[in-house]
Amino acid sequence: MNKEIASSQTSKSRLVDLFSRSISYLRLSLTDRCNLRCIYCVTEDEENSGLQKVVHAELLTYEELLRIVSVAVDMGISKVRLTGGEPLVRRNVIDFIYKLGQIQGLTDVRLTTNGVLLEQYAEDLLHAGVTKVNISLDTLKPERFKKITGVDCFEKVWKGLHKAIAVGFSPVKVNVVAMRNINDDEFTDFVELARTLPLQIRFIEFMPIGESTRWGKDSYISSDEIKERLMTQFGRLTPVEKKHADGPAQVFQLEGDCMGSIGFISPMSHKFCDRCNRLRLTSAGTLRSCLLCDQETDLKSILRAGATDEDIRKALVEAIRSKPKGHELAEQFDQHRNSCHGQMSRIGG
Ligand code: SAM
Repeated sequence: MNKEIASSQTSKSRLVDLFSRSISYLRLSLTDRCNLRCIYCVTEDEENSGLQKVVHAELLTYEELLRIVSVAVDMGISKVRLTGGEPLVRRNVIDFIYKLGQIQGLTDVRLTTNGVLLEQYAEDLLHAGVTKVNISLDTLKPERFKKITGVDCFEKVWKGLHKAIAVGFSPVKVNVVAMRNINDDEFTDFVELARTLPLQIRFIEFMPIGESTRWGKDSYISSDEIKERLMTQFGRLTPVEKKHADGPAQVFQLEGDCMGSIGFISPMSHKFCDRCNRLRLTSAGTLRSCLLCDQETDLKSILRAGATDEDIRKALVEAIRSKPKGHELAEQFDQHRNSCHGQMSRIGG
């Protein structure tokens, strides 16, 4: 690459990939550790052999993360999401978020959590500068919660959800992975919840990532099927106009009085790759330009070899240049192939 091209590609407003998509959103997996062991996240092998985790020294330090985010923001990233693993189990996370919030130009810091520690942290998160919170919750039944997550703590998540609303996060988004014969009898209960609480309930299509393919096609339900089922029961769903910062969810309003809304995230049946604005930094310190493509750039090694800010910029540009046009997970799934072996907890979803 000659010097002129390199510098124009690393300047602000040039975080554009080869398919003209502007990249403005960075997801950070702060740790692959989690206080739950969800059946779609933890593989049978991991369960049997003891969980394989990134050792602490191999995680990027908070200083390293802040440096990378500063450079990325200077190049045009304006939104960061903290995920994992469970981001709230990483020590001193509130202090880190506060420092993140001080980065000039970073306008949006969001968090995805399983909610277990949310009652304890909601207020601190708000004060530290978190703008929006997503809670992952696949069931409203305590017994089933234990079966899905391996831990008997539905009540904690429930209290965390209410605390997030009470301190003023709005709207609180609830991510429900839709799974046939596992939680599909609860979709209407989730919708009812959106009537009475200011929640955006988002049904996410199950993705066969990594070893979670052990579930096979039987557990997958398309958003269209869920929508049809809900319309039979609740009547018309009116589409809500998308705002600029909205993610891939298609959001709908229910008929009648309703405090919240319903969303569908359909990575399998209605790909949104053409609008993807994301770059991911895994808990192992690698840049991943597509959730569903295993190609990664080892930014941690570059950093620990004494990288200058320009080296970091180049690594970000390279990662974005390698962003694939789209994923083929649904096609591979149909053919019983799986090219995405990445662990969700390491990538951060
Ligand atoms: N611990 C946090 C949490 O539970 O929200 C953040 C990490 S978790 C990996 C991020 C999101 O990915 C969760 O909403 C989870 O339900 C979703 N997820 C994990 N595996 C999935 C799969 N195979 N298909 C669809 N969503 C999945």
